[in-house]
Amino acid sequence: MGRSKIVILAVAAMSLPLSAFGAGGIVKTPNSVAPDRYVYYPGTESLAKDEIRLFACGTGMPAARRDQAATCFLVETGNGDKFLFDVGTGSMMNVAALMIPYDFLDKVFISHLHTDHWGDLATLWAGGWTAGRTKPLRIWGPSGATPEMGTQYAVDHFLKAFNWDAATRNFKLNPEPGKITVKEFDYKGENQVIYQENDVTIRSWPAIHAGDGPVSFALEYAGLKIVIGGDTFPNKWFMKHAQDADIAIHECFLTPDTLVQWYGQSPQQALGVGTAVHTAPQAFGKVMSTLKPRHAIAYHFLNEEATRYAIYDGIRQTYDGPVSMAADNMVWNISKDKIVERMTVSTNQAWAVSGPTPAPAPLKAGVADPMTDFIRQGRWEGVKEALAPVVEGFKKEHPDAFGK
Ligand SMILES: [Zn+2]
Ligand SMILES: [Zn+2]
Repeated sequence: MGRSKIVILAVAAMSLPLSAFGAGGIVKTPNSVAPDRYVYYPGTESLAKDEIRLFACGTGMPAARRDQAATCFLVETGNGDKFLFDVGTGSMMNVAALMIPYDFLDKVFISHLHTDHWGDLATLWAGGWTAGRTKPLRIWGPSGATPEMGTQYAVDHFLKAFNWDAATRNFKLNPEPGKITVKEFDYKGENQVIYQENDVTIRSWPAIHAGDGPVSFALEYAGLKIVIGGDTFPNKWFMKHAQDADIAIHECFLTPDTLVQWYGQSPQQALGVGTAVHTAPQAFGKVMSTLKPRHAIAYHFLNEEATRYAIYDGIRQTYDGPVSMAADNMVWNISKDKIVERMTVSTNQAWAVSGPTPAPAPLKAGVADPMTDFIRQGRWEGVKEALAPVVEGFKKEHPDAFGK
């Protein structure tokens, strides 16, 4: 989606026409650069101490679409902390393009256990393990009505499903980054503190979506409050605890007309899904006009020319405040005096960036080799001479790792 316009929401700035800033600022000499590009280039801007940066790394639906991954929001706070809220299917491609060292992406908060909210955990877990994470992942997620419906059960069985992956990597890599610690909290808790470290507080409250377990989150830092609704029908807890939000993210679904015309749903199904299971645009608008956050973000709809105007018109029937129609790679800078929305411009070929902690060497000792002699003895020795100078040369280049 080509959004090139910067949106400045500061009260003071709103009285000025955008042209007052100049298109990209003023380029004073033929050799100087435009001071304002209206876009965010990963890794090029440090965050002020009292500022928050929010990325939409996934805003779409459970079925794959190259233009929109499933739900994932990344929050960076001015103290240097980073928090992933949901890692929906496909979203790690957008997260990776931000080129943040994997060691800084170790905290994941899961709103509920639908695949479009945690389907890319496998990519973060194994991909980050191969690309520089030096410590276990930490996951916070809700309990369910029974233990089998909770986050601890889900992660325990995730690791069982990926047992072959873990067993083979444990031998070749260091096992530590392949571990996951889970902090499962009560999904019924109302505005309960589930995380409090380093001046950041994260709270949860129940959401109404598909069954017991889904929650909404609020992150508080430097007097700022970011609410991440997850999936939910409008509910009393959100209306109570999302008050005073600087940013309020809430699902906003495709219209019943769109569900019939583009999804091939029956009118009966479309009406139920579009107005009773999910949050219709008019209902999203009513939530926001009642709560009056500084800025609202609508997500969880396929955002394209065929769909976005009907959704926007629906929202505007009940809400006239600031709103973003979320698309992947949108980014917001949030401070006390302004909220700025831009698009991230990133490379399709991002490499993992190393953090300050060097990657740990493989352990080997005490870790079972998952390969038996049956397979090992099938190695073709015909490549031995071709490989020997490669191995010897590399060892000479890294005497600290291999000895002289
Ligand atoms: Zn869901
Ligand atoms: Zn969802």
